[in-house]
Amino acid sequence: MAVRHSKLSQIEKIARPIKWRWRISSLQENPDKVRSANMRAIRSKNSRPEMAVRRCAHSLGYRYRLHDKRLPGSPDLVFRSRKKVIFVHGCYWHGHGCKRGGSGAKTNTEYWRPKIARNKERDKISVNKLTADGWNVLTLWECELNDVHALKVRLVDFLK
Ligand SMILES: [Zn+2]
Repeated sequence: MAVRHSKLSQIEKIARPIKWRWRISSLQENPDKVRSANMRAIRSKNSRPEMAVRRCAHSLGYRYRLHDKRLPGSPDLVFRSRKKVIFVHGCYWHGHGCKRGGSGAKTNTEYWRPKIARNKERDKISVNKLTADGWNVLTLWECELNDVHALKVRLVDFLK
């Protein structure tokens, strides 16, 4: 029994790295797989820009709901009683006209351009639907969030 067990684990020791190598080469052959995994990671809901806005709004004493799926575009922050929502957009993925989002973004351009265009289109439709339903919408861009004081002023102004 003991012998059989040790033989088995020897086989496992050999088999494991082979399996791992196969996995790596399969990812190398399928760059799309890697790309979409990256995109998922980058577009995660609790992104750094969004966390900055949440921290700021929270420190000002506002209470909000997150990513409300019942509303068009599932806005990042929802202030239901005020009928106001905030989207926090990464400049690259949502095609901001700034350096980071516009022509400055050179990596994988042909691959990403249509996806970014689709994001932009979706964002526009969401804002239009929300506005039509009587919501006030504020879109904050990643590149605007470095100045915490300015962000506070904008939040207070929007939420009053
Ligand atoms: Zn920007």
